[in-house]
Amino acid sequence: MRITVLAGGVGAARFLRGLKAEAPDADITVIGNTGDDITLFGLHVSPDLDTVMYTLGGGISEEQGWGRDSDTFTVLAELKAYGTGSGWSGPDWFNLGDKDFATHIVRTSMLAAGQSLSAATAALCQRWQPGVRLIPMTDDRTETHVVLAAEPGQATQPGQAAAPGQAGARRIVHFQEWWVRLHASVPAADIFVEGAAQARPAPGVLEAIAAADVILFPPSNPVVSIGAILAVPAIAEAVRAKTVVGVSPIIGGAPVRGMADACLAAIGVPATAQAVAAHYGPGLLNGWLVDEQDKAAVDAPELAGITVRALPLYMTSLATTATIARAALDLAQELRG
Ligand code: GDP
Ligand code: CA
Repeated sequence: MRITVLAGGVGAARFLRGLKAEAPDADITVIGNTGDDITLFGLHVSPDLDTVMYTLGGGISEEQGWGRDSDTFTVLAELKAYGTGSGWSGPDWFNLGDKDFATHIVRTSMLAAGQSLSAATAALCQRWQPGVRLIPMTDDRTETHVVLAAEPGQATQPGQAAAPGQAGARRIVHFQEWWVRLHASVPAADIFVEGAAQARPAPGVLEAIAAADVILFPPSNPVVSIGAILAVPAIAEAVRAKTVVGVSPIIGGAPVRGMADACLAAIGVPATAQAVAAHYGPGLLNGWLVDEQDKAAVDAPELAGITVRALPLYMTSLATTATIARAALDLAQELRG
């Protein structure tokens, strides 16, 4: 069986572990989100690709869910020491461990030598052997940006020109700055993926979608993970033509981990399992798994055209996660007839 998964970071990586356990013989391609990519200290950091790679390859920090296992932070401390009064300063809000730095150095040096992000990802996966084919959604540069809601008193006067990088009095920041530095505490007025509209799918992406028996959306952030991948027009178009089954990242009106509700609010979607499915819509999504707490969605008229099943959706162990993956595959099988 051929399975293609659109993946963010932690939610996707956990689900993929269960999927691999449940379908050990399946040919699994993972299309990874690069909207979270950011340049830090001149290095190209791909947080979501690395979370999937480390998790499936056995190098993840299980406590954090991201970053390398038992990492140390000597390089970061040394960089901070250079930043004191020197006129140079680097970002001090993004944690990069020493082992993790090596990954970003390999990626950046390959990119600097003219290789593509997908070639760099394949090279990194040679070491980690994640047991799936991991491809970035695009080799073109994309970055998710967040338009911060104007703070009271900052409102633009009528006729006042917006400064560069600002929409009115609103400030636009990289998604990571909003998420990691600001903990999404400032409301977002909008979220968009810079570069996505012009981005071409990376080699192998459209082929993996076309060849798939089913496309799965793991319980990843609908806006900045799955949404960012679908912001590449050719990917959205290819996915629409397939049988798609998704797993809700929202349970009982809240994200299980993280602040996906803040992302959904920015695009005007309520943080419910039902609203997320309606946001994807029946033209894209054929099947949707919700938690038992959200079983009212099974018969919701708003979700006509989407087959909804309710089952426990907390990925508390490999066994429970494998059961969720099995339910997704069974539903896909049923929908394919
Ligand atoms: P990120 O890029 O690291 O934020 O990870 P993803 O986008 O792949 O996944 C984030 C989403 O995973 C969040 O919205 C969480 O609600 C969801 N999530 C985390 N753990 C669970 C779980 O056990 N069950 C379900 N259904 N969703 C989960
Ligand atoms: Ca992410």
